[in-house]
Amino acid sequence: RYRPLHQRGAPEGHSGDRGGETLKNSCVICLSNTKSCVFLECGHVCSCRECYQALPEPKRCPICRQAISRVVPLYNS
Ligand SMILES: [Zn+2]
Ligand SMILES: [Zn+2]
Repeated sequence: RYRPLHQRGAPEGHSGDRGGETLKNSCVICLSNTKSCVFLECGHVCSCRECYQALPEPKRCPICRQAISRVVPLYNS
């Protein structure tokens, strides 16, 4: 399994936004831990457990702003 190097401007897929330190698997909030939970009902996988727990009440998905009714741990496959 390849592990991403810490570099700016990934060779593949310049997706529109800049400041792209964002690794595919890193939490969108802290950008350092790996994503480890799935928010329901929206189904987004975007943050680590710690950031989820740190979200202010009422907890909302940081991506779509839907209320989070349930969280399922993400298992690495
Ligand atoms: Zn995080
Ligand atoms: Zn969402």
